[in-house]
Formats: sequence, structure tokens, C-alpha cells
Amino acid sequence: MIQYRIDVAEPAAHRFQVTLTVERPDADCVLALPVWIPGSYMVREFSRHVSGLQARQGSAQRPVVALDKTTWRVACTGRAALVLRYEVYAFDPSVRCAYLDDERGFFNPTSLCLSVRGREGVPHALRIAQLPRGWDVATAMPPAEPAAHGPAHSYLCADYDELADHPVELGRFWRGSFEAGGVAHELVVSGAWPRFDAQRLLADTQRICAAQIAFWHGADATPDAVPFERYVFLLNVVEDGYGGLEHRASTALIANRRDLPRQGQPETSEGYQTLLGLISHEYFHTWNVKRLKPLEFGRYDYSRENYTELLWFFEGFTSYYDDLFLRRIGLMSVDRYLRALGRTLNAVASTPGQRVQSVAEASFDAWVKYYRPDENSLNVTVSYYAKGSLLAWLLDMRLRTAGTGTLDDLMRTLWQRHATTGLCETDVLDAVREQAGPPLADELAHWIHARAELPLAPALAVMGLHTPTEAPTKTSWATRWGLKLSESGGSVVVKGVLRGSCAEAAGVSAGDEILAVDGWRVRRLEDARQWVAPDAACEWLVGRGQRVRRLTFDPTQGTAIQPVSLTLQTGLDDTTRARRSAWLGE
Ligand code: ZN
Repeated sequence: MIQYRIDVAEPAAHRFQVTLTVERPDADCVLALPVWIPGSYMVREFSRHVSGLQARQGSAQRPVVALDKTTWRVACTGRAALVLRYEVYAFDPSVRCAYLDDERGFFNPTSLCLSVRGREGVPHALRIAQLPRGWDVATAMPPAEPAAHGPAHSYLCADYDELADHPVELGRFWRGSFEAGGVAHELVVSGAWPRFDAQRLLADTQRICAAQIAFWHGADATPDAVPFERYVFLLNVVEDGYGGLEHRASTALIANRRDLPRQGQPETSEGYQTLLGLISHEYFHTWNVKRLKPLEFGRYDYSRENYTELLWFFEGFTSYYDDLFLRRIGLMSVDRYLRALGRTLNAVASTPGQRVQSVAEASFDAWVKYYRPDENSLNVTVSYYAKGSLLAWLLDMRLRTAGTGTLDDLMRTLWQRHATTGLCETDVLDAVREQAGPPLADELAHWIHARAELPLAPALAVMGLHTPTEAPTKTSWATRWGLKLSESGGSVVVKGVLRGSCAEAAGVSAGDEILAVDGWRVRRLEDARQWVAPDAACEWLVGRGQRVRRLTFDPTQGTAIQPVSLTLQTGLDDTTRARRSAWLGE
């Protein structure tokens, strides 16, 4: 048994105190903290927040020797338990690490709990102590038995992997519950304004969960078919934030406080729509990536990057289904659904990186590219979320058009075959081949590995969707000419320049401050439309470092970007209308 005691003694100083007890330690006891957390593919080196590591065996102090940035060794004598004490500084407000102040706390065990080499497979117990008065604990971590008789806030996991996969929320939060598919679900909201519409959030979340359980296990699924006994949503609302991380029986979410539904306001704001999409996304991961997972994730190696070429499937397909579920259960209008899909289409279409990197390469390189974006990212990378979701959409449309079922069928086949064995690309291709024949499987293989645009236009047409281009006068200058801008405090600063764009042809560089257009000072680039004729050449004055440069901006040089909108085509034949309606409900 490995035991952790987490003391919440100094919340205002953002410090957790951790006591780790190793029974009957090896003579050479090696301890390590993960460098990453599954679901967020970047080496974060959580050990940088660990300090004051001390070890004792009985009354004898044992020296702690650092082996590398995240691993320590303690030489032990005899069988007495080894007790380690250390503190962890916790001031990261994201869902990926740990946070503590005098209002709330949150931690992933990957930030607080050292693993003991060779003992990862034994039971791991965790207890939370010195909880400030009035605070409570929310987590999907299984309580230690018997919960009623043992110390409060004690938990027991089968192994280190299970421990690592249960985030914990601490504080005074709102808590509600519901059942979906006969399984108990809990929803915890931290930081909410008092008059948020908790019952609406609870009811909408319940509908999403029920629909997804029915998707994977059938409409009359029994609770034992569902692969978890209890599920917990840990939602922290803040002034400005967004994010989520999936776990085997819970998810940690961050959203804007103002995006919670409000009592007496039955309309669905864009923000609330986004929050429902996030809930749908992370819950879908409970199946797609937490259980049906890349073969390479069969056993996580917490000490280094774990590479897979399949994030286009696990993140992209999940992104396709998140809004689609909202649409199917009536939580998203057709109009909003098409606008969201249109935004994804435009985002990918204006990513020159899709001609440089395939979605398989984007998945593999997530550790150093997707998670570490810079001003050149759009030119050399493509989002496996966005392009992966378009790939899912395209595959779904092609299956439907050929009369060979739907993507739902494919997902369920993969679940039944590979939920316990791990998934590789060949498994996906084999299942497509069986369901729809070799040509579609070959095409899919091409879409996964091609550094090229997906053939979306024919599929849009056969689904009764129209893609009129936006009038040039409506497209912002920045978008049209390939500029990423930051406009604040009266200054216009270039954050990125798209490859092949008019802005690149004019010699604009990331970091430039655009000062003036044709002799007039600009505080917002869009204002220049008042005095520059559409598509006419103009002279820009930019600040670059301490120098001022003149650039000739000629829209006839380079490629202009023309966003499209997505609309329903009218006058459809019966087959096309039925096909579109089966997919979109319209
Ligand atoms: Zn995701």
C-alpha cells in the first residue's frame, strides 16, 4: 500500500503539504513525479513546484538523492515504513496542474503524488487533511471502505494510474446530481454567481449524458453496460477562461462565469452554447480516448512524451460529435450548428500549414507544435482538432451518401472491438473497409497522411449544403490579407503573417506595429477602409523594433482569403432532403 496525506494547511500561500508513506520500502527506493498529464500532450515538468523533500525511516533521517529533474532515490535500511514529506506550490489556474488559495483548491494527483518505482500496481490511498472550515471535497476517486467509518475524505485506488486519473476539487461549491443510463452523475460548480440557473445546467447536462450513453450502449442500456459506476463534472467558473481535461470517471472544466445560464433567461447565449459543447466534448472522451485509446497509451509512461499519430481520431472525431450531440437532442439550432461548422471550415481553409503537415504528423508532433504555438504555427502546422473534425464529418457524409451506414456505426464497431485492446490506424481502416468497401478505406488513408486540403466541396453539395463566399467588403482586412492582429490600447500589432498571403508579399512581419495607412494614423486597421478604395494598393507605415518602415501593400500580389458561410440549399430532391435530414434534423 502506498499512502498520501495531502494537508491543506496554508491555502493563502498556495502550498500543499504532502506526506507519502511507503510500507516495507525497497533498499533502493526510487520516486518520481510525472512530467505530463494524459490528455494534455506537453511536457510540463510538474516537479518544478516540488520543494523541501525529506525522508525518514522511523526516527532516522534518510538522504534524498536527485537522479534527474523529476526522480529521487532514497537508500533504506530494514523494513520500517519510509515517510517522505514535501511541499507543492499550487498556483496554476488551469485544469492541468494544481491550484490553492483561501477560496478554493484543485489538484491532479500527477502534480502532487510521487510514484514509487516498482509499486505502481499496488493500491494507492489518499487522504485530505486540515481542510479549511466549511470546505468540501469533490472527486470521482473511490472512497476508502467503509466510507462511513473511516476518516473523512479518504480514498483508495487500485493503482497509480487510477490515482493519477482522478482530479480533486476543494472549497465551497455548488453541487447537484442526476442519473443518466441508471448511473449516478454529480455536477460541481465552483465560483458561480448566486443566481445562476443550476437546474437548467443540470437538466441540459443530463440530456447530453443520456444521449451519449445511448449512443455507445443502446437506448435500453443497463447500468452495468456503462463502463463507470459514477461520474463527476468539476466545473470552475472564472472571469475569463476556457478549457477541459478528460478523465476516466470525471472531467475538470473551466468556463466563463458569465456563460452560465441565468434564472429567468431561457434563451441560449453563445457562451452557454460553448459551455454545453465543452461538456459534450469531455464526456464523449470518457469512451473515446479514456477507454478506446491509442495502442501506444496502453500503459502511460509518465516520464516522457507518449507519441501517437491518432489524435486526429481521438480529438478530431470527439470535436465532430460534441456539437452534433447538442444538435441531435435539440440543444443547438440548425443555424448555430451550421455557423459553427462554417467557422471550422474557414479556419482550416485559411491554414497554410495543412499543405505542410498531415493530421497524422500533427498528432505526432503535438508535444512540440500544437501545444507550443508561435507566430509561424499556422504556416507549418494544422490543428488535429479542426481538420480532424472535418475529416470525421467527411467520412460520415461519405458513408451516408453511399448508403453504408453512418459514422455512428463505425464508432460502435471500433468500441466493441478495441475498447480493451487499444486502437491503431489499421484497425480504423479495416473497419471502414468492412463497412463501406476498399475504396473509401483507401481514401481515408490518404486524408490522414496527405499534406493537402480535404475534398469537402462535393460532400457539401450532396448533403444539400451551399457555401456562398462572403462579400470581400464584409471580410475583415486582416482575414482577407492573411494577417493575425492584436488591436488593443490604440495600437495595431501583427501577431502572424500567413504564407502566400498579400501581407507576406508586402513584407509585413510578425511583431510589426501598423502605424499608418496612406498617411493616416490607424488605431484599428479596419478604419483604413474609410479612405482606401476596395482592393486598391496603399502605403503602410510600420514600426519594427526602433525603426519605421514604409511598405507598399498591393492586394493583387499574394492570395486573398475568402471565407464562406454554410447555408441550407432549397429545392432539393427527396433523396438529398432525406439524407440531410437524417444527419442534421433539417
Ligand atoms: Zn478533447
